[in-house]
Amino acid sequence: MEENIKERGGISVETSHIFPVIKKWLYSEKEIFLRELVSNACDAVTKLKRLSSLGQYEGDGMPYRVDVTLDATARTLTVSDNGIGMSEDEVKKYICQIALSGALDFVEKYEGGDDKNGIIGHFGLGFYSAFMVAEKVEVITRSFTGSETVRFVCDENGSYAFTECDTVRERGTDVILHLGSEGEEYLSADKLKQVLYKYCAFMPVEIYFSDLSAENKEGEVPAPINDVDPLWQKNPSDVSEQEYKAFYSKVFGDYREPLFQIHINADYPLNFKGILYFPKIQSEYESLEGQVKLYYNQVFVADNIKEVIPEYLLMLRGVLDCPELPLNVSRSYLQNSGYVSRISSHITKKVADKLSGMFRNEREGYEKLWKDLKLFVEYGSLRDRKFHERMKDAVLLEKVDGSLVTFSEYKEAVGESTEKKCYYATDPVTQAQYVSLFENAGIPVLLFDKVVDTQYIAMLEQESDWKFLRIDAELADALRDKEIEEKEDADLQALFVSASGEENLKLKLTAFKDEEVPAVLNLGEEDRRMRDMMQMYGMDTAGLPAASTLQLNTKSSLVKKLLACTDEQAKKNAAGHIYLLALLSQRPLSADELKRFLADSYRNLENSL
Ligand code: ADP
Repeated sequence: MEENIKERGGISVETSHIFPVIKKWLYSEKEIFLRELVSNACDAVTKLKRLSSLGQYEGDGMPYRVDVTLDATARTLTVSDNGIGMSEDEVKKYICQIALSGALDFVEKYEGGDDKNGIIGHFGLGFYSAFMVAEKVEVITRSFTGSETVRFVCDENGSYAFTECDTVRERGTDVILHLGSEGEEYLSADKLKQVLYKYCAFMPVEIYFSDLSAENKEGEVPAPINDVDPLWQKNPSDVSEQEYKAFYSKVFGDYREPLFQIHINADYPLNFKGILYFPKIQSEYESLEGQVKLYYNQVFVADNIKEVIPEYLLMLRGVLDCPELPLNVSRSYLQNSGYVSRISSHITKKVADKLSGMFRNEREGYEKLWKDLKLFVEYGSLRDRKFHERMKDAVLLEKVDGSLVTFSEYKEAVGESTEKKCYYATDPVTQAQYVSLFENAGIPVLLFDKVVDTQYIAMLEQESDWKFLRIDAELADALRDKEIEEKEDADLQALFVSASGEENLKLKLTAFKDEEVPAVLNLGEEDRRMRDMMQMYGMDTAGLPAASTLQLNTKSSLVKKLLACTDEQAKKNAAGHIYLLALLSQRPLSADELKRFLADSYRNLENSL
């Protein structure tokens, strides 16, 4: 080791075991060494500020700061602060003993265990994480009390020495990493800036980065890489909409404005703060890619920690700062921690309160946002009972005409007319004929065109005595002329079966209120849901018997003509064509059906000339 050694030591007999283990465990997140060292530096400043505010330190007017300096030629990376500093005894105590015992605890906890994911925070291991990238770490420090400058050097095997230090520095600490081969990538200024921005963007002391090899552009005033006063720490009433938006676009690099945000500022009994943004959702799939960044006292910890944030809230974007979160413990701890589940339910409550408040107080604005909120709210309601309870009165159902109603409003509007049935379309274009049948009868038709809708209505059904039926599931009573009884006709059914080729086709003769529509096809709701589900899971539904019922409208002039027709061939042709037309107004035709339909149409056209 060096010359002028005052004192030598070895951190511990066990260190030769500890270092490789730490390296192995932390390897996947090597970059966190920088977070650890920079946050130690910020802590050193914060401690001194506190002493100063307690009147125990007078201060010298030197502005508090942290510097991260790369000297690629010398292969060193230095983290300096002008904080509290350490005396020789303190280095011995805090670095040699305490930091070591932290490392020992860590090894005891994790060696042999397979909870690799549990290593989220590794706080307490901070100083030693430097050895993930450095072969030697040098500390030059001077306590604010004015004691001698101390120089301490430690190598990757844990042997250290205190050596003479020629230079006298001001109060504070330099931690100089001599990067080894494992730290090669941190010789790049770009890499360092990227890591600093990720972890240190909101640390509470100004951090300056400099690359000694870069040309110093004249006149350039260096700016700190961080924002020491992040928006979430402010009082919501002091923050303008503009500031919320600017913060969003800076943190998430999204040029689109968020819809709105919720600023959580909880002090007691739960201490955590954060801002959650509702991003503008472009598609059903994009919405699942939110990003909630978790901080520990302004130190970035990780993105999207499922254990802390309810799963469906991960669709949102935002920041959460949880200073009481014990981050150096395992995931299984997080899953069972009372604090974590209280945070989670507090967030749920805040989000639901915000949304239902908007619903009550600014319905018009809320309706405008609904398209973007809907997926999130339905998904959240399905996932979280409590969220559902809080939100259910503020959930809007869309009608095919684009207007929005709550479930209660819908129920009130239809009254007794549908006998506790809600009718909905999944594709108002293909199902246009049914839609107009219902609308002409004065029954509002809802629109459920998303996968999550199906699950959401199943939940509404479970909770109420109402049923949801797609408009092609049955011919609603309100669409029929009930004076005239519906009939079955075995011969006619046989004719349609043979003309359509559908063995299981049922036929009913019904009087519609509407005389214009000759026939509609009905497919039972349960059957259809089953089919949809099978198709969603990629299962083959071709073999399933199609239990469709063809409703022939006895009031339609075409049907009257058909019933009176005595030319068997003409009757069969017409039956086949009516079936295909009814099918066409229910769903897109398959290739075979379309070929048959076109051939039929041309033949009928020819016959009509
Ligand atoms: P932790 O930060 O979790 O306590 P570390 O291993 O990172 O664990 O640091 C051990 C101790 O060394 C710190 O608690 C602190 O007392 C001291 N220390 C580390 N870095 C600095 C620094 N830059 N200035 C002053 N003290 C420091």
